Amino acid sequence: MEKNFDVIIIGGGPGGYVCSIRLAQLGFQVACVESRKTLGGTCLNVGCIPSKSLLNLSENYFKVKNEFNNLGIESSELKLNLTKMMNNKNKSVLTLTKGVEYLFKKNKVTYLKGQGSITAKNTVTVIDDLKKKSNYKAKNVVISTGSLPTTIPGVKIDEKIIVSSTGALSFDKVPKELIIIGGGYIGLEMGSVWKRLGSNVTVIEYLDHIIPGMDKEISNEFLKILKKQGINFKLNSKVTTANVVKNKAVVDFTNNESAKRQRFEADKVLVAVGRKANLESLNLSKMNIKLDTKGKIKVDENFKTSVENIYAIGDVIRGPMLAHKAEDEGVVVAEIIAGQSGHVNYNTIPSVIYTSPEVAAVGKTEDELKKENIKYKVGKFPFMANSRAKVNNETDGFVKIIADEKTDKVLGAHMIGPHVGTMISEVVIAMEFGASSEDIARTCHAHPTHTEAVKEAALAVDKRPIHY
Ligand SMILES: Cc1cc2nc3c(=O)[nH]c(=O)nc-3n(C[C@H](O)[C@H](O)[C@H](O)COP(=O)(O)OP(=O)(O)OC[C@H]3O[C@@H](n4cnc5c(N)ncnc54)[C@H](O)[C@@H]3O)c2cc1C
Repeated sequence: MEKNFDVIIIGGGPGGYVCSIRLAQLGFQVACVESRKTLGGTCLNVGCIPSKSLLNLSENYFKVKNEFNNLGIESSELKLNLTKMMNNKNKSVLTLTKGVEYLFKKNKVTYLKGQGSITAKNTVTVIDDLKKKSNYKAKNVVISTGSLPTTIPGVKIDEKIIVSSTGALSFDKVPKELIIIGGGYIGLEMGSVWKRLGSNVTVIEYLDHIIPGMDKEISNEFLKILKKQGINFKLNSKVTTANVVKNKAVVDFTNNESAKRQRFEADKVLVAVGRKANLESLNLSKMNIKLDTKGKIKVDENFKTSVENIYAIGDVIRGPMLAHKAEDEGVVVAEIIAGQSGHVNYNTIPSVIYTSPEVAAVGKTEDELKKENIKYKVGKFPFMANSRAKVNNETDGFVKIIADEKTDKVLGAHMIGPHVGTMISEVVIAMEFGASSEDIARTCHAHPTHTEAVKEAALAVDKRPIHY
């Protein structure tokens, strides 16, 4: 029997589940289809949440092992219990995914378990675990099927020795040698986890710098800090093959400049070269839903695909592959379907790397502004001169604020240092309100806090920092 809904959302990740809840709040009859055993998508199951659990625990382990003894917190017989650490991570994931299920019940969102495809303009077909097919009718459909790890030619992921981020979140023992292909944020976060737990980590990156698109000064500082932490880097190097030989991975790579070839062996290889839109089994071409040049679903400014009543959000469409971007699009598309005027400000989407120290950014980089011929001023303040960072012995890094040369309007902020992943929100809000660097500089910041570094960087835009 067919059941009717106002909107069916395919995919229960941050884009899809948030969109479902917002639509329900707006009074729609909503169903969300999810093929994974639990809700929450990549983010809650194999992305943001499990990686942050391991980042937090491995950082604590590393600090107790290597730093606390010198600070008067002495411990003997410190032992790593990886099984317990993984169990804790799995428990956090379960609690949060069950939390989304609870929110669905609370908001009366129907949870359809199985794989969804669009079989007609207003029909979604769901195939469950027992291969049973059910058809559901909807006035509107939202595709939020997210993304999947990708690889490069010559490298096949087996999730045993050559793994994606999903495999690297669940190693059953600490690999002695870990090679990471790709110096983006996922590779560097997972590299930090396993380095702190005892692996010898080597990152092989095609470009001559890490984190493509990041402010150059921050990227250089970040590389310096990671090297100081003992992570090895082979930059400007192209991996040609990675093979499994007698339970070990053999990775061949060539330096782009010198053409020198090298071969490294490792217990595990993490392939972290990016992600691709997950379009499998959606039936897009039959529905005449068009893709863009990057193989993502093409949408207009209202998230409409090439079919009138079908929308798409999150990792399957253009823009950064980030959970909070998907969530914001989920809210906005729900409001657009309700006839309201939703809007996502892509200039103020922050990005954060949860290493130690953290790295955070919002808005334009200097390179982007130069390309756009926009004249700007820069203010910088080092954590070395921030009293709270100093007493906590976490003085690596700095805050950089970029403002328009004439109007002083804040155009971007780039930070590396303790807690900057949380601190970036201050500049995001300032930018949303169209603030100037003078506005931030004249805002009272609690003392002693790391956030004073933001105020001082804003003062530095006008060359008048107090503490540096
Ligand atoms: C290791 C790692 C760490 C990350 N860390 C961060 C971070 O710290 N911060 C951040 O902002 N982002 C992070 N991300 C990225 C973030 O996870 C994604 O940007 C986000 O999950 C995208 O949300 P989404 O709703 O578009 O898609 P997804 O979260 O991928 O959800 C899509 C869901 O749709 C389901 N699905 C797919 N096809 C079908 C179908 N046909 N029928 C039914 N269901 C289907 C999938 O099973 C999946 O559950 C991380 C990613 C990884 C891999």
